[in-house]
Amino acid sequence: MDRRNFLKIFGLTLMISVINSACRKEAQGYTAASNKKRIVIIGAGLSGLAAAQELYRRGHEVVVVEARDRIGGRIWTSTQWADMPLDFGATWIHGPQGNPLTDLADQINAKRLTTTYNKTVTHNTSGMPLSEVEKVRMEDLRTQVVKALKKAQGKDDDASIRQVIKPLIDQFDESSEAHRFINFILNGTIEHEYSGSAEKLSAQWYDSAKAFDGDDVFFAQGFKVIPEFLAQGLQIELGQVVKEIEWERSPVRVITQKTEFIADHVVVTLPLGVLQAKSVRFSPELPHSKQNAIVKLGMGVLNKCYLRFPNVFWSADADWLEYVSEKHGEWTEWVSFKQAANMPILLGFNAADRGRAIEVWSDKQIVESAMQTLRTIYGGSIPEPIDYQITRWASDPFSLGSYSYNPVGATPKIRQELAAPLKKCLFFAGEASDKDYFGTTHGAYLSGLRVAQEILKL
Ligand SMILES: Cc1cc2nc3c(=O)[nH]c(=O)nc-3n(C[C@H](O)[C@H](O)[C@H](O)COP(=O)(O)OP(=O)(O)OC[C@H]3O[C@@H](n4cnc5c(N)ncnc54)[C@H](O)[C@@H]3O)c2cc1C
Repeated sequence: MDRRNFLKIFGLTLMISVINSACRKEAQGYTAASNKKRIVIIGAGLSGLAAAQELYRRGHEVVVVEARDRIGGRIWTSTQWADMPLDFGATWIHGPQGNPLTDLADQINAKRLTTTYNKTVTHNTSGMPLSEVEKVRMEDLRTQVVKALKKAQGKDDDASIRQVIKPLIDQFDESSEAHRFINFILNGTIEHEYSGSAEKLSAQWYDSAKAFDGDDVFFAQGFKVIPEFLAQGLQIELGQVVKEIEWERSPVRVITQKTEFIADHVVVTLPLGVLQAKSVRFSPELPHSKQNAIVKLGMGVLNKCYLRFPNVFWSADADWLEYVSEKHGEWTEWVSFKQAANMPILLGFNAADRGRAIEVWSDKQIVESAMQTLRTIYGGSIPEPIDYQITRWASDPFSLGSYSYNPVGATPKIRQELAAPLKKCLFFAGEASDKDYFGTTHGAYLSGLRVAQEILKL
């Protein structure tokens, strides 16, 4: 498609969005740009929408090109159960105090519900809540794990978390409680949060991200309220799978399976997994520093299995239910929606290697495996779930994983290389490009604002 065609399609849809948005513009602080540019943003996830909204409000012509038939990307609220929206991707604003997403949620008065780690019940391998003696042993081992990791962070050479913990875990027989406790700590505390396996996560940098304070909150209507808010007034082209980007000089050409778009600047918010798989061709190829960053960072997995029961049979006032599994990482972490939302729903997680492995299982196998764990904890007479919903993020072609992590060999600086613009033509955002808050929604959002500033400064 040539420039004029682009403008025609762009213009048509823009006209509709202009009508829709005209009355909102004033309230949104819309200003006409003195040097109006055409900007194509690839991806209608949080980072893409944040960048698009900012650039649109500053008077530029913006079109968001999105492969899926929905916006939000890794924010995806299922409305299959009418009385309880469920988030397949991000659920929580992690640390709401000072978090930019809190401001957005406040602007739309979005109702938020709180879960807290203070309300956690941990069960041993037999399914009993940890006794006082077991709790002391667990905390002692946790202290030793933290100490070993802190020591490793003071060294020059990097190693994986598993390598660093090996001298500690090797002191115990594989069938011992201590061995299981250490694996539980690695899985529940580290692999679930960072989505990479202990075998791959960098001991030096796995936790290099900053964090905001406060108990995590989730949205009563689902996280989708935030992308919906940011999408207001924007032209978004759904169902446009980008195949190639010709980027070395302006105008940049974005070629999709159906058509092509031409722009002065293009913002790439493709998830790290999609960049690693080379699903989109860059012509010419990306420079070495960029490719190096893409290859060296890790894309991890966190998968969810929601189970809905006829009634609550677990500790009703607990938010988190934990299980010290026999084998590493099997249904270690659960969230109860009883206390926060008064619903008889449990959410079981599988992260990292285990999260990836079960994606090939059938739904029936996954639910049965989850139920085995719940029966171990709560007994054989618990009810069967009346329904379930399951995610498979590693197999999703437009995500190919859940969120990024720092494996051995990656440093925080590498994320700046991923974020660096190329020749004033190509700009990069997305959670993986945010050095300070990678792996989160607020990291994605801030990366979108950062890239908008880069373009506005040109
Ligand atoms: C299971 C899970 C749980 C999570 N939990 C939390 C949480 O509780 N709190 C939190 O803060 N964060 C959480 N996260 C992380 C958070 O969801 C992400 O960091 C954030 O949403 C990423 O936003 P993004 O804009 O960088 O990427 P995305 O949202 O992935 O946006 C990229 C967009 O690009 C599109 N795209 C891909 N390929 C193409 C193509 N070829 N052509 C056109 N478009 C394409 C995608 O469809 C997508 O819409 C979770 C993620 C997952 C998966």
